[in-house]
Amino acid sequence: MTLEEAKIKHEELVRLLEKYAKEYYVDDNPSVSDAEYDQKMEQLQALEKEFPSLITITSPTQRIGGTVLKGFKKVTHTIPMMSLADVFNEDELVEWVSKAEKELNQEVEFSAEMKIDGLSMSLVYEDGVLQCCSTRGDGTTGEDVTTNVLTIPSIPTRINAMGHIEIRGEVYMPKKSLEELNKAREQNGEPLFANARNAAAGSIRNLDSSIAKSRKLDAWWYYLENAQSLGFRKHSDAINYIKSLGFKVNPENRVIKGKEEIVKYVQEYNKKRNSLDYDIDGIVLKVNDFNKYDILGYTAKNPKWAVAYKFPPEEVVTKLLDIIYTVGRTGKITPNAVLDPVRVAGSLVSRATLHNEDFILEKGLMIGDYVTLRKAGDIIPEVVNAIINRREGNELPFKMIENCPDCGSELVKIDAMHFCKNPQCPSRQIEALIHFASKDAMDIEGIGEKVCEQFFAQGYLTDISSIYGLSNYREDILKTDGWSYKSVDNLLNAIEKSKGNSLERLLFGLGIKEVGEKMAKTLAKLYSTMDNLASKTIYDLLKVADIGEVVARSIYNYFHDENNISLINALKEYKVNMMYLGTTLIDETNFFFNKKVVLTGTLTKFGRKEVTNLLEDFGAHCSSAVSKATDLVIVGDNPGSKYDKALKLNVRIMSEDEFSEIIENLKNN
Ligand code: NAD
Repeated sequence: MTLEEAKIKHEELVRLLEKYAKEYYVDDNPSVSDAEYDQKMEQLQALEKEFPSLITITSPTQRIGGTVLKGFKKVTHTIPMMSLADVFNEDELVEWVSKAEKELNQEVEFSAEMKIDGLSMSLVYEDGVLQCCSTRGDGTTGEDVTTNVLTIPSIPTRINAMGHIEIRGEVYMPKKSLEELNKAREQNGEPLFANARNAAAGSIRNLDSSIAKSRKLDAWWYYLENAQSLGFRKHSDAINYIKSLGFKVNPENRVIKGKEEIVKYVQEYNKKRNSLDYDIDGIVLKVNDFNKYDILGYTAKNPKWAVAYKFPPEEVVTKLLDIIYTVGRTGKITPNAVLDPVRVAGSLVSRATLHNEDFILEKGLMIGDYVTLRKAGDIIPEVVNAIINRREGNELPFKMIENCPDCGSELVKIDAMHFCKNPQCPSRQIEALIHFASKDAMDIEGIGEKVCEQFFAQGYLTDISSIYGLSNYREDILKTDGWSYKSVDNLLNAIEKSKGNSLERLLFGLGIKEVGEKMAKTLAKLYSTMDNLASKTIYDLLKVADIGEVVARSIYNYFHDENNISLINALKEYKVNMMYLGTTLIDETNFFFNKKVVLTGTLTKFGRKEVTNLLEDFGAHCSSAVSKATDLVIVGDNPGSKYDKALKLNVRIMSEDEFSEIIENLKNN
């Protein structure tokens, strides 16, 4: 791989990992499994190892955790709350132990501990009185979540110890609490928490402390931060001390020595983890003797005297009872496995997506098969394979349906997918309504899956624009079970408020094929108004850096379909905003607007494509040859003859640094 290629790959991985980290640490709502995240992180680490010049302090390999939410007071950790280095199999674990032993020149005593899958927390006491409970945040700055943490009854507010004491541990949601919580959420039609970690983090980082109280959280404490200054020589002694002060210390933790014993412990808890009443995602090993800490030292992100062994993705066997179908907003038909409910990696699973016909045929699944199910410590359950040798002879072959399970219209196969093409199909319309109101689209609180289904069945909701006519049914809704004056008014207010959203939310909410959140934003920024966008030809759209033919065609077709034109007109009548309200990149006064630009030489800060994209975003036109008409030549390392020509023609020349500075200023404006 060349450096140029590595840079592109690096940028791609960094963007992806940043997106996942935001979903995980800030939104407490990850979209991918931890295993997938860890795998991408490993790829990034390997790439940075090969190309160390790509490492920056902001790389995900160098950063700890998340950010601080608005609304909580910030807390600066006097001693940073670090993350742990990970190992993913027994060989890597043994290698890590050998390295530590070699460095310390002796067999080392370790504290082997449950790696609790929760939210790390710091408690600070002064002269025996609890002062502050804070999250890890980015390691240096956390959030003051004292009010929420105090709803956990096992945490002492007073301890028998004078001076400054800081105790660190993990707040978690017991499996039973998660099950109860998800059951209640299911009944209320609310989205379920994917696992106990997200549920715990979401509860602790909620501004309403009654939420944390209702969630029945608990905590284990695993570290006394100022142990050495209090005279302790060993971590295990410090832990016994905090236990004597009244903190919950995990009873499974043990002091052990030697690779064999360590591997045995890890294997033992990999088997036992399901019987614990809280989730663990691995085992933590910490060198027990504090004197060794300084010898081993720290990286920017982790101490080198501890390591986290992560359990492999968990697999279980269950029975495939049936295959049922759901219809998405675009009409896409998804087959889903109905499974004999089974607990896997912390939650009870009874459904798993089977994606499409080919997926099922490739795996050779039959209804009634025993199947292996995987859920990599995390979120999306996946059917891995059928266990052929457990077949009993009464399994039924799979045959893809030919008609829509909801409206009955004939399905159309496009590539591997089947589609219901009936725009009036109730399932499609309900899905479109749910999507329109969803958080990332128009963000209308109160219009979720259950309400959409109910109001659709009652005829209050039909197409997207009917949301804005819902106030006509105020009296009818009030007569429906579960609705009060307050809840109806809240709903109608949320609908009213959404009319003021910026264009990109509306564009995303309309569900135009190929227009995701990012594309919606690009289009809104670029074209400013719905009418301007609707007037563009395929040719116009193709000029935009991020738009290829499929996307251009889909956007053009959308705005030339009569149903969509009437929908947009109806929304206009309801006075839904059709303008982009953020700052537009193409502000005509920006330096690059309408300039003809040529690039030459190796651009080391950005890739060539990125520079071109940025220039085009700001309204410049890029070309490959220098002429009298050229306004600007951006010059990288080892420039070619274009540079000489630019000098000759007296064309303005700009270094890559100067370019990057102007871009930064423009972006920050
Ligand atoms: P980590 O989970 O790998 O380990 C460090 C944390 O373990 C500590 O901060 C502490 O909170 C916790 N811990 C639990 N028991 C402990 C004990 N006995 N002693 C010490 N610490 C203990 O690191 P992290 O930085 O919290 O998170 C990174 C991990 O989070 C990734 O490896 C990935 O699995 C997951 N993640 C997933 C996504 C996603 O999108 N799915 C995104 C970001 C991170």
